[in-house]
Amino acid sequence: MTNAKGGFYLYIVTKVSRLRLFTLAIIAYMLLAFTWWSVLLFLKNQDAFDAKAELLQIGMVAEQRIQNDAQFFASDEYQELYNVYHRQEIMILGEGIVFIITLVLGVYLVNRSYRREVKLARQQRNFLLSITHELKSPIAGIKLSLETIKKRVLPDNMRVKLSDNAIGETNRLTSLVDDLLLSAKLDTKYVPNMEPVDLGVLATEWTNRLKIKYPEVNFQLILDGEELTILGDLYGLNSVLSNLLENSIKYLGTGTTVGLGVFERDKNVLIQVKDDGLGIPKDEKKRVLKKFYRVGNEDTRQTKGTGLGLYIVSEVVQAHHGKVDIEDNIPRGTVFNICLPFGEVS
Ligand code: ADP
Repeated sequence: MTNAKGGFYLYIVTKVSRLRLFTLAIIAYMLLAFTWWSVLLFLKNQDAFDAKAELLQIGMVAEQRIQNDAQFFASDEYQELYNVYHRQEIMILGEGIVFIITLVLGVYLVNRSYRREVKLARQQRNFLLSITHELKSPIAGIKLSLETIKKRVLPDNMRVKLSDNAIGETNRLTSLVDDLLLSAKLDTKYVPNMEPVDLGVLATEWTNRLKIKYPEVNFQLILDGEELTILGDLYGLNSVLSNLLENSIKYLGTGTTVGLGVFERDKNVLIQVKDDGLGIPKDEKKRVLKKFYRVGNEDTRQTKGTGLGLYIVSEVVQAHHGKVDIEDNIPRGTVFNICLPFGEVS
């Protein structure tokens, strides 16, 4: 299976490389052909000028208007002929330069959009692979739990454990479907349903929920400020907190602590999600907010995901006229700062 996948990759890469090589060869040919035609035009123009000048000189000698070359070169007729020739020379040169600039610019733009398309296609393919896995594994888990409960007579504690397991997997599926629906909505038209949302209460609820779900993680909650209620979309803001916190846990590695802070800052509320986990490399910080983007390579990546979480965070925050900022945590890990304006809360 892996070999077949590797073979397919190799096939695509070879095909794409060949296509690029072919395109580059055509462009190189066009440039060489153009240079050749330009030089030829230059030489032909010069030949035509020489022939015309010679004809003019013979005529003027025959009419006995000039005695030597110096008089010919100084004559008005020659000067006029020379000016026309010189203008044509400049015209050919100018046209040539404009053509080359246009060609190079065109090639650059085509190449840029081609790279973007290839990157998007790769990300969408990665997304499809991971979404298939993300959907299949909880379904398989739920099925196994239900089959075991059905087939065997189990002690109560075992039955509860299996049921909890199935409920956990169902929650995972629900949050995945929610992410998919929200991201589809964000692509078309997401209009936040504004209502007063107390971010302090929301943060407390999330911390309590996750403390039960992940007892091994050390959660820290800080609330600071008299007014932590903003005008926002509860559904969207829940998704922001869910994605940031679940990510902090997912990418915790050998880290132990996830911090959630909600602070009043001037005319804004700052939500801060901190962890001492794997961290995000400097040059990836901007990219992780893009749709389907995941750090690293799909084959080597250990954690599963869709690359939708931070895209949703970024889009929802933008729809609230807020800002997302990613920093390194010291000594290790990541800090997500979400700055949200109060809006018109009465
Ligand atoms: P997903 O988690 O499904 O891959 P996200 O959009 O939520 O997609 O995140 C994009 C990428 O950003 C992840 O693949 C991960 O590499 C990185 N990332 C997000 N949050 C964290 C975090 N708290 N610590 C380290 N890396 C993170």
